[in-house]
Amino acid sequence: MQEASLVSKAPLIQVLGPAVEPELMKAQLFEEIMHQLPKVQTLQIIFCGPDIPPNSENWMEMETCPRCRRAGRKRRQRLYSRTYHEYALRLGSAYEVPDLAVAFNSGCSQEARDSWAGTIKHLVQRKVPTIFTAFNREEGEAEGKLFANAGATLEPHAVTGFYSVNGWLACGFK
Ligand SMILES: [Zn+2]
Repeated sequence: MQEASLVSKAPLIQVLGPAVEPELMKAQLFEEIMHQLPKVQTLQIIFCGPDIPPNSENWMEMETCPRCRRAGRKRRQRLYSRTYHEYALRLGSAYEVPDLAVAFNSGCSQEARDSWAGTIKHLVQRKVPTIFTAFNREEGEAEGKLFANAGATLEPHAVTGFYSVNGWLACGFK
């Protein structure tokens, strides 16, 4: 993500397969992106995954910190209760490649593999800037292979040994 490209329009981040806890319940943490990118006036985040309860799917204006509120900066989010590739398929030509798609500890090499396979295929084919994190090295490498097998050219990365939530980068590409 180049900051220059973020100034021209409201940046769009899409979070794939989020868990209600922690991603949705702590969505205010995404405001830190605004604090790191002071020229961003509005940050748009779409959460998309089958674990999300059905809802209106409309944009929701989210509460920001007092400083952002005084500056008229906005954080808005939208929730879709379906897999990411189903979301993209339904939108058809209205689908917009986001500035970043991210999946936190998706476990895509372990669970719901068929479902994730469709999402991975979409991300690779549409050259969506993507980050997947993993719980550990084995999972990170297994997930990296899924992306490589789907045709993604992964950015080189070094793996070092510790256990941490989102401590492992399974892939980063665009
Ligand atoms: Zn703020």
